Amino acid sequence: MKISEILKNNRVTVSFEVFPPKQWDKIENTKALVREMSTANPSFMSVTYGAAGTQSGFTTEIANEIKNSGITPLSHLTCLTSTRDKIHEVVGELKANGIENILALRGDIPEGFVFPDKQYFEHAYQLVNEIKELGDFCVGGACYPEIHPESKNRVEDIDFLKYKVDCGAEFLTSQMFFDNDKFLNFYEMCRIKGINVPVIAGIMPITNAKQIMRSIELSNCSVPKKFYRIMERFGDDAKSMKQAGIIYATEQIIDLMANGVNNIHIYTMNKPDVANAIMSGLSDIING
Ligand code: FAD
Repeated sequence: MKISEILKNNRVTVSFEVFPPKQWDKIENTKALVREMSTANPSFMSVTYGAAGTQSGFTTEIANEIKNSGITPLSHLTCLTSTRDKIHEVVGELKANGIENILALRGDIPEGFVFPDKQYFEHAYQLVNEIKELGDFCVGGACYPEIHPESKNRVEDIDFLKYKVDCGAEFLTSQMFFDNDKFLNFYEMCRIKGINVPVIAGIMPITNAKQIMRSIELSNCSVPKKFYRIMERFGDDAKSMKQAGIIYATEQIIDLMANGVNNIHIYTMNKPDVANAIMSGLSDIING
């Protein structure tokens, strides 16, 4: 099923993100995690591409497992360090496997990366265009409530985002954030600028304080005092931190929904217990 269909009619949706393993011998473990998460019946499940050193080929394998578990898959694809032939190969593979949804991303600039004289893809909008040429895919893009770290300012960032949508991105998934006001202001700005596609709020449950500080630093997102206090109080106690992280994420989602945001994406960090606990905390809200 196309994600554009799932996001229609202002229905409440809650989706999950997983990442593939770095090594082939861990693929069965990741597939088992996918199966476990699918029991919570997320609206769709996305699988990252090449992030944190993962092999690109594993993405399709995991997307297939999501599909076989009865959940709509969304396959991420990055373009900056790919040739046009490689992009065609991966998109062909997705098509052959009946995967209809692709999140078109530029990918981070690797340290020391020197742009070649002839760079085929510099930005995600070019990948959106390319995928649209290659088949009948539903294509999404990424967005940044607190501005992409490379952007000069918010206006420029949103203008480029609008262009990506005009090229054919049918929905946007946001970078994680912990302060809902940041997302709600961004959401309003998108609407003012004429970005009318669904903007899915990306929520990262913080269940391991140390591990997550690095992601927070990289993502440029601000951390409310309340959140720091939780990490200070519970950060050294794994069980308490996990419980507090699940509750913080659940409350964040409820507040977003109360403010009219219907589409939520959970960065599960491949933790079915966390993802499924959030879903059960929202069960009546989702099904109501
Ligand atoms: P772009 O849309 O190209 O934007 C990147 C920068 O370029 C921004 O500053 C933007 O304002 C600017 N820009 C855009 N268009 C133009 C233009 N025409 N001219 C000049 N400047 C322009 N990374 C992975 O490696 N694998 C993943 O699976 C992955 N999944 C992600 C999922 C989500 C939801 C998010 C939010 C990020 C993900 N990332 C992933 C990280 C992502 O690749 C990086 O954040 C990357 O730096 C930007 O990607 P983008 O697609 O937003 O790029």
